[in-house]
Amino acid sequence: MGLESFIGFARFFVTFNDLSLAILVLGLGLFLTLLNSRYKLTKESFSNLLTFLLRSYIKVYILLIFGNFYTYTSFSKLNLVNLPKGWLSFLLCFLLVDFIKYFQHWCGHRFTIFRLGHTVHHSGTHFDITTAIRVPMMLYELLFLLPCFLLGFSMEYILIAVVAQFLYSLLVHINYDDPWLRSLEWILITPRLHKIHHNRTLTHNKNFGFIFSFWDRLFKTYDDSLEMDEINIGLETLPQEFNPIMIQIRPYMNYWKKMRNKL
Ligand SMILES: [Zn+2]
Ligand SMILES: [Zn+2]
Repeated sequence: MGLESFIGFARFFVTFNDLSLAILVLGLGLFLTLLNSRYKLTKESFSNLLTFLLRSYIKVYILLIFGNFYTYTSFSKLNLVNLPKGWLSFLLCFLLVDFIKYFQHWCGHRFTIFRLGHTVHHSGTHFDITTAIRVPMMLYELLFLLPCFLLGFSMEYILIAVVAQFLYSLLVHINYDDPWLRSLEWILITPRLHKIHHNRTLTHNKNFGFIFSFWDRLFKTYDDSLEMDEINIGLETLPQEFNPIMIQIRPYMNYWKKMRNKL
């Protein structure tokens, strides 16, 4: 299949609205539930879907961002240089986007301003495909992707990489483990590696990678020491929450309370 076909798919995918994406994730979740009760959706799964849609509502109507595709188009005009098109350029772009995602995720744990938002993703107490879209309303992804636009990578290449990241993030939230997957862990993030990242203690703070695991190996944040059943999902500091508005704002409320008590 030529690169053009992927480009067509990526364009189509990002012009989907978030409601369509939520329906896609729900459909996949229900399909997996039929396949094996281990993957079953829970009440929290529906809160995750609503949390995602609430974020979309804020994104579309308050921040006046007119949909993903147009945002990418305007960012692609910021290029300082223009890298030539072709497979090499595409592969470099794909690797750079994956590294940026790793770095963004690391910042999401390291710095309070990003951590408060990222806590939304970690506060879920159940691990299923909908956990992937339990995401904060703070929109800073595009800022992290700025180097890709400045380097003049083709907007289409960036889109393909971002869509691949999204689809892969659905896979790593499926509660699935198998010996054949272990052999892939030297290069890829698997559901087990990502579930270890969700460990309730958060002392781990490891496995920040999105698709490739070699960033974690390179920067010494790799951990494959736990089995699926040993991992407790959620955060000790936050109770299970079903209200999507509270899921989005609770981390900020807690932080505000903590700061006020310190004064
Ligand atoms: Zn995280
Ligand atoms: Zn996750």
